[in-house]
Parts: sequence; structure tokens; C-alpha cells
Amino acid sequence: MKYQSTRGQEEKVTASKAILMGLTSDGGLFVPTTIPQYNINQENFLTQSYQELAYDIMGLWLDDFTEKELKECIEKAYDDKFSTDLIAPLKKVGADYYLELFHGPTLAFKDMALSILPYLMTTSLKKQGIKNEVVILTATSGDTGKAAMEGFADVSGTKIIVFYPKNGVSQIQEKQMLTQKGDNTFVVGINGNFDDAQSKVKELFGDLDLAKDLAKENYQFSSANSINIGRLVPQIVYYFYAYQQLVNKKEITLGEEINFVVPTGNFGNILAGFYAKQMGLPINKLICASNKNNVLTEFFKSGTYNKNRDFYVTNSPSMDILISSNLERLLYYIVEKDTTRLKELITSLSSEGNYHLSEDEYRKLSDFISGFATEEEVEQTVQSVFENDKYVIDPHTAVAKKVLDDVRDNTKAVIVSTASSFKFPDCLLGKETSEDAINQLHEKTGLEIPKPIKDLEHAVSREEIIVEVDDMKQTVLNLLDVK
Ligand SMILES: *Cc1c(COP(=O)(O)O)cnc(C)c1O
Repeated sequence: MKYQSTRGQEEKVTASKAILMGLTSDGGLFVPTTIPQYNINQENFLTQSYQELAYDIMGLWLDDFTEKELKECIEKAYDDKFSTDLIAPLKKVGADYYLELFHGPTLAFKDMALSILPYLMTTSLKKQGIKNEVVILTATSGDTGKAAMEGFADVSGTKIIVFYPKNGVSQIQEKQMLTQKGDNTFVVGINGNFDDAQSKVKELFGDLDLAKDLAKENYQFSSANSINIGRLVPQIVYYFYAYQQLVNKKEITLGEEINFVVPTGNFGNILAGFYAKQMGLPINKLICASNKNNVLTEFFKSGTYNKNRDFYVTNSPSMDILISSNLERLLYYIVEKDTTRLKELITSLSSEGNYHLSEDEYRKLSDFISGFATEEEVEQTVQSVFENDKYVIDPHTAVAKKVLDDVRDNTKAVIVSTASSFKFPDCLLGKETSEDAINQLHEKTGLEIPKPIKDLEHAVSREEIIVEVDDMKQTVLNLLDVK
């Protein structure tokens, strides 16, 4: 199995090379030459642990990793840094099922992929015989940055620089990043929003002069953003795992189709669901749930993607995005791998800020349903789920719950739950974050305060670095001490 560019460049590379490169050299995203198949009727599907299932699913995608290499990566990633042996438990609450992806070290679903990515990367370096140090450059809307730093901290042969919008993340997210340990981790606030940060990071990846300067010091860039297949592939696992748990709990029969509703920003998580369906998991609809930044809702309803609209900072900040990078991979299938057509759409997006699918193309989006929730609806949903079911959800998960309530049909649906409410306590408490919000949430719900949050209280913040978007390149050079 090989990986190739969504934009048509001929070169095909192995999984380990694709993981190190992040983006393809023509600026596209890596996609597999064929999508591997997994048969859920095979004997051991229902009895496997998370780690065993991860090995089977990921092994199909990362087929140049040896059994020993991949098993080692999985063992180091999904260990007791997760607060439950199940890693991704499924909870039944009223008529709903929640797939809880927030039991990792940073209490958000990004841990599912970012706890394994550093090991996939260092293994890939060895496989490719590369002696350079990898520099991870990442733009974050809050959760990726912390989860990436946590994953890469003190992993030898790596350095990580995280850029975040100074006014676009929650207080707790910012404190989590500023208190990160690890001499190889750097965090920089920018005066701009997430899309500014992400566009600039993409530009730096493509900057050949910068690459040359870094190479002189034996550095090379890679990306920990969700465009990296090393992020995407680990996320496919938990769709299968959710399904396995539903069957084992006798909520569905093996083979029955279900829906997933996914709170979506950069289109990474839900794209993994799309690949799970393509691999053979019985999924009827993937429900794409957005917040007030509802560019994707409109896209799935009309076939027009239009980023020319106001950008809102909302109470589900990790979904405040106008350019969903991973959508390019879905488009690749929608245009039936016609890379000339794909480039037309992408060019239109960068020059006009929008593109329109043809009628034929639009019809191919039928795997998806879309909807969005306003900030008020999110707050109401967090509160009503708690009042009715004594279950506590975070605002991102609430976006998904609200959209599911709007579009629900007779198919059983799993809500993909992406963060712990302790990261975003305001919605349930119904006010602006106060210093004491964590304790108040604990008292109101009776839930134990997660250890990573408890530890924050006494952690010492590093000195803040805040720069203009235009100074990001110089900041990278300074931090790496490259002249
Ligand atoms: C990143 C994130 C999302 C959005 O995931 P995408 O893969 O970008 O669509 C949703 N919820 C939380 C809590 C997140 O951190």
C-alpha cells in the first residue's frame, strides 16, 4: 500500500515516508492508493482490546511497519496515561450513546492520535535511515497544541513549536499549554485567529529557503496537524471500537447500520469515520455537526463551500474554523480522483474564497448529513442533558447532541464525545469562567476532578511569547537558534 497526493503528483510513498512529510510536495494531502478492507465478521473482532483492534486496523494502513514496530508504538501510546483501560468507553445515556474520547492526558479527543504520533514519527525516521531531528510545527485552536506538546515532550530526536491564537482559546487551554514540561517544547501566541496561524504554518512548510536554513542545522519540518496520516489512521480505530461495544452490549446486532454524529472543525475526526465506512464498517450516515461557524453545514446542504463570512469565537472554540483542511481528502473521492478538477476547486477556494460542486458531485455527498448549533443552544443542551440524565457533556459534544436531536431518525446513533467538561466548565455553570469554576463543577456534578486539571493548580507557567503573524518565520529561526 502506498500514499499519493490529492493533487495528482505522480510520486507514491510508503506510510512511514508520508508520516514524515506531512503534506505532499505539491501542497496536497496524502491519500491511500487503495482503501484497505476490514471484515467485522472475523472471529476475533468482538473480543479484542482497544490495543489489539488498533494493531489490526492500523496495520492495514501502515503496512511498511513491522509487527514489532507497530505493537511497540501502540503499547507506548495507549497505556496508563489514559484513565480507563477501555481507552475509549461507550456510555449509554437515555436513548443516546456517547463514545468518550477524552480520557487521555489532556482530556480531549486529540490525545487518541497525538499520543501515538510521536512514536510513529520516530519509528519512521529510523525506517527511512534519517539522522535529522524532526521539528514539529503546529497551529492549534487549543486542544491540538497541548496534546501535541504532551505527546512529543522529551521524545528524543524531536522538537515542537506550537502557535495558537492569543484570544481564541479558553483560559484552561492556555494554561495547559503554558505549563507544559519538556525542553524540546515551545509555545507561541499570535495576534490573529486559528486560520491565520494555520495558513502561515502551511506557508512555512512550503518555504524552501527556510527548509535549506534548517537543513544546515540538521533539522527538518513535519506536521502534527490533522492533515498528517499519522493522525488520521489512529482515529479510524475508535469507530470500529464503538461498534464492537454496541454489539457486545447487545444494543445492535452485528451488521446493523448505525449513524455517527461528530462535532467537526478541521474535518479530521469525521473523515476517519468516512474511512471506517469505506473499510467496511456498517455506517449509514455520518452527521457533521458544526457550531456558529457553520461553513460545513452550508457545504453539505448546498454543495457550495464559502469561507467569505464572519469568523466567530464561540463557546466550542476547538471547532472555530472556516477552512477545514481535511475536507480536501473527501473532495478527492467526490470528484472521483479527478485531480485536475480537484485543483480547480482548491484554486477557486484560495483565489475567490469559495467553490461550487456540480450536481453530480453534490449527489456523492449522500453519506453525510449536516447541522449546526448556536452558542445558546449549546449552553441549553449542556444544561438539559445534565438535568434530564445527570450526565455531563462539554460544549463541543453538546453541538453534536443538539444536531442529532434535530435530525434524528430510527437508526441508532453514536455521539462522538470529544472533551471533558472540566476543560470547558462555563456552559454548565452558566457564567464566565471564574478561578473557582473547576471546584464549582465538581460540587455541582459530584464528578471527581481529573488529575491533569488538579495538577494545573500548582503548575508554573512559562514566560509568554506573543508575536504578529508576519513574524512567525523569524520566531521559528530564533527558537531553533538557526542563523
Ligand atoms: C479538535 C476538536 C474538535 C474538532 O475535530 P476536527 O478533527 O478538527 O474536526 C472537536 N472537539 C474538540 C474538543 C476538539 O479538540
